[in-house]
Amino acid sequence: MSVITELDQVADELRDAGRLLLTTHENPDGDALGSLLGMYLVLSQLGKDAAMFLGAAEFPLPYEYRYLPLDGVMNEPPDDLEERLVVFLDCGNIDRMPVDFLRDDRIRIVNIDHHHDNTRFGEVNLVDPSASCTAELVWRLAHELGAEITRPMAEALYVGLVTDTGRFMYRNTGAEAHLMAADLIEAGASPNEVNRQVFESLPFRRLELLARALARVYRLDGGAITATHLTREDFVETGSDEHDSEGIVDHLRSAEGTVVAVLVRELLAEDRAGLRKVSLRSVDGRVDVSRIARGLGGGGHFQAAGFTTGLPLPELLERVRVEVGEQL
Ligand code: AMP
Ligand code: MN
Ligand code: MN
Repeated sequence: MSVITELDQVADELRDAGRLLLTTHENPDGDALGSLLGMYLVLSQLGKDAAMFLGAAEFPLPYEYRYLPLDGVMNEPPDDLEERLVVFLDCGNIDRMPVDFLRDDRIRIVNIDHHHDNTRFGEVNLVDPSASCTAELVWRLAHELGAEITRPMAEALYVGLVTDTGRFMYRNTGAEAHLMAADLIEAGASPNEVNRQVFESLPFRRLELLARALARVYRLDGGAITATHLTREDFVETGSDEHDSEGIVDHLRSAEGTVVAVLVRELLAEDRAGLRKVSLRSVDGRVDVSRIARGLGGGGHFQAAGFTTGLPLPELLERVRVEVGEQL
């Protein structure tokens, strides 16, 4: 007896659909955008009428992803929305896409993701936490659907792979991630070019923001927690936007003895004044940071998670400290 997998089910849905709308989570990262574009290119090659959607609030996109050919992305719902199959990529729960029109019961949703805490909000779900990134699932689907991996497809999917694996250094980096990389490189992706675009073409203000974060770094509980924070002034005075703090938390992982790295930053939008975004990274896998984030209204992966809170800095650090302590 053959077993029908989630991959088969989603491949069937995509095969049967004529018109589709693809979207991803708010504040899209490299995996969100790479999966979105990669899936779009696959479906277009198969002769589908596919459209990409991102809310207007997501623009301008993060600086390092602006080179991606995403100019066709729409930020208003299409008139024929109800006739389109809606495909969510890299989105662990539907609340991470703050666009109400997608919450309509008449819409059929396919949910493709690798977050272990995915709420399986789709009519059909392909949720595989063993996948290094959502781009890996798109890559598997592309092969399943018989698509030819073109160079633009490979370049888009490689962005998802290299960002979500922390440049092939996180624990989600297995043989499959490297096999996928090899396949994409054979299809024309250049690791060096992607690296130059995504990691080495950043505005100088990012270094200034990083300098402030590192100048203020502190350790709690004998070094188990390495933390720092950024204020509104840090952003304003360096001319940075919210996204410019991306990657800073990863620098905190490097200090010996660190179990959890924490970056707290004040949100900039007027209507979010007083709120703080907290990024958590678990260095050696002893602590499940997604559990801590979920308890505070956020979510994420075992080793990389986040949440937004109205708690003042001392209280929120104390909360994180207690929860890390409980898990150790
Ligand atoms: P960040 O610290 O923003 O880089 O986020 C790390 C990971 O945590 C992301 O890849 C998401 O999976 C998850 N995450 C961050 N913020 C939230 C949130 N508010 N709700 C759910 N998941 C989140
Ligand atoms: Mn993501
Ligand atoms: Mn991802």
